[in-house]
Amino acid sequence: MDYLAGLNPSQRGAVEQIKGPVMIVAGAGSGKTRVITYRVAHLIRQGVDPFNILVLTFTNKAAKEMRERIMKVVGQEAKNIWMGTFHSVFARILRVEAELIGYPKNFTIYDTDDSKSLLRAIIKEMNLDDKLYNVNHVYGRISSAKNNLISPQEYNKNEAIMAEDIANGRGQIGQLYMTYAQRCYRAGAMDFDDLLFKTNVLLNKHPDVLHKYQHQFKYLMVDEYQDTNFSQYLIVKRLAAVSENICVVGDDAQSIYAFRGANIQNILNFQKDYPDVKVFKLEQNYRSTKMIVNAANSVIEKNKNQLEKNVFSDNEEGEKIKVARAFSDNEEGKIVAEAIAQEKSLKGLQYKDFAILYRTNAQSRAMEEALRKIGIPYKLYGGTSFYQRKEIKDLIAYFRLTFNPNDEEALKRVINYPRRGIGDTTIEKIMVTADQRQFRLWDVVVNAQMFLDGRSATAVGNFGLMIQSFQALAKTGSAFDVAMHIAQHCGILKDLYEDKSVEGLSRYENIQELLNGIKEFSEREDIAEKGLDIFMQDIALLTNDDNDKDPNADTVSLMTIHSSKGLEYPVVFIVGLEENLFPSQLALNSRSELEEERRLFYVAVTRAEKKLHLSYATSRYRWGTLNNCEPSRFLDELDPSCLALDFQPRSPMTSMDGGFQGERMAWKQKDQDTFTKPKPKVMKTTSILPKAHVPTEGFSPSDTTGLQVGMEVEHERFGFGKVVNLEGNKQDIKATIFFKELGQKQLLLKFAKLRIV
Ligand code: ATP
Ligand code: MG
Repeated sequence: MDYLAGLNPSQRGAVEQIKGPVMIVAGAGSGKTRVITYRVAHLIRQGVDPFNILVLTFTNKAAKEMRERIMKVVGQEAKNIWMGTFHSVFARILRVEAELIGYPKNFTIYDTDDSKSLLRAIIKEMNLDDKLYNVNHVYGRISSAKNNLISPQEYNKNEAIMAEDIANGRGQIGQLYMTYAQRCYRAGAMDFDDLLFKTNVLLNKHPDVLHKYQHQFKYLMVDEYQDTNFSQYLIVKRLAAVSENICVVGDDAQSIYAFRGANIQNILNFQKDYPDVKVFKLEQNYRSTKMIVNAANSVIEKNKNQLEKNVFSDNEEGEKIKVARAFSDNEEGKIVAEAIAQEKSLKGLQYKDFAILYRTNAQSRAMEEALRKIGIPYKLYGGTSFYQRKEIKDLIAYFRLTFNPNDEEALKRVINYPRRGIGDTTIEKIMVTADQRQFRLWDVVVNAQMFLDGRSATAVGNFGLMIQSFQALAKTGSAFDVAMHIAQHCGILKDLYEDKSVEGLSRYENIQELLNGIKEFSEREDIAEKGLDIFMQDIALLTNDDNDKDPNADTVSLMTIHSSKGLEYPVVFIVGLEENLFPSQLALNSRSELEEERRLFYVAVTRAEKKLHLSYATSRYRWGTLNNCEPSRFLDELDPSCLALDFQPRSPMTSMDGGFQGERMAWKQKDQDTFTKPKPKVMKTTSILPKAHVPTEGFSPSDTTGLQVGMEVEHERFGFGKVVNLEGNKQDIKATIFFKELGQKQLLLKFAKLRIV
């Protein structure tokens, strides 16, 4: 069979143009990602070695899916393609080359929490006002400096930047940046932005290394090119300079990361950088109905800054877009949940055909509650990821220290957790000593007897010895053995075991889940390197959306619009279409910010294949108080002929063009009425925690001896389920259990609190 048969002529043209620079700027759903996927398969079919292909995607999940599709055409060879996000690909390269730029091979990757915690410490040390030097603001300034390849030295020399900071009363950010960079370096750590910044440093300072990778990556492809920042742009440009076999795809109308330094100019500059670029246009949208494509076009045309594009769909006309009005966020949740239940049964759909998209993570609460109430299973993307949970971060901090004892954020996190008698004063003393003598914290820890007195010297010294014993084991042990040993000996397992509260139990199980994950990782057959250090690198770079243990589970997806990029669902709900929420209040100051919000709305609308639902609430809790809300201007901007209003307007529409002007007018009227009475101030009382399963009887520790496949069991928190599989030997028997409410889970029996029913 012709493996390129599933492409239209323009797509095929772009796939077959394998030499030289290629750019595809095309609308949503027109097959850009599909072109990249087919292009890689085509290259390999043409005899290109997969090791010579580099594909940069927007999420790890996208890379995984792409690889699976390519594998169907070219087989196992697909495993050798260099494919992933910018961060994961270049972290992998830095692992090999780090020593050239003065970092240990086992450098730590600081996540946002680590970075902010370090910044907070420096802000305090410098006696700066932490309200003025708000840690998020400082982090944002440093991040955008790095993404624009401005080093601390350059930052401090740059008059325009310094003048801006001084005008804002924050003249010390340059110094903060300087100290922050030095501390990261001393800790052998790179933050997320460093992974790209240092790659640039590496490629710039070491022409031989640049040369090596230029020859390695003979073919480069970048998806979602409109959202690359300067630092990413330059890496790609450098790597492609020799072969010039570079293909980028993107859509200027979907550029939604300006706040992170993404630069739509990159698309516009591509033609300047490569004058002989071949440009392909894809205009047919294969994803959505005509109704949805027309609606999306009617919104995005309101943006002044955009490349001319004509997107059309040959799919069915489709249903009109439903707009629902709710009087509160909770009612909005109810409307959405009921609509899902109804459409699912009417149209014979599955839960996984539905997605609920929102502007801010906080909005998930009302949706989750409503779904739970009527028993609809859902999966929350984003939010607090598994690996961001405290107990997980605690244990991982021990792993990090084991591989990089200079990792100061990890050290500070666990030096006295679980408690081992090392008080704040001692920790302070360790830090001051390190600073004064230009030592690393770890040097002070292992030489505690020299710098500290009596009991604290012993406690700190013992902590050092314990980490050293972990290091010795890590040299030879498998990922799972090392992880298990550390979990058992660092004290965390014991501490959590003794905590009998519901939270304590759940933390204990999370640790178990982490160990399960490591066990699975160490048994994987598709990767050569299976050390705990590699596992940690992988998870450091997981975006929240990659924690998708079971991608085939039948659940409704909940996520922010930012995380929905590139994805598609038969039925999409966009909720919270209210002024000051979407568009965000923070985006109302300038045209460019408002246009970015509009692009975000365009991204949201274009995720839908068959049916789109929009909704807004006329009142909503925000920061604990009840606020009245006005429908979003984006509702007015949609072509009214695409809409089906799901309610009677409150009062006769006052504007000639109908739409939501009338609703807004009616709204304002109501608003005035409300102001004559004091507004009720209602505080949130509902919990966002999932309701724990309440066992009917007490649990004894699991007796695993009689357990067999097919048996019904009850788990203390997961409820009832059936054993699907048992594997492993005595000590490490792993059970796969299908839980009625949660689907399939793997549990290590020695931890699991199970009861045979
Ligand atoms: P986005 O801008 O949202 O990232 P995209 O341009 O990357 O979208 P794809 O995700 O590649 O678009 O394609 C959208 C949908 O259309 C996918 O389901 C894809 O399989 C399908 N599709 C694309 N091209 C064709 C084609 N020639 N024939 C059939 N289906 C196609
Ligand atoms: Mg895409």
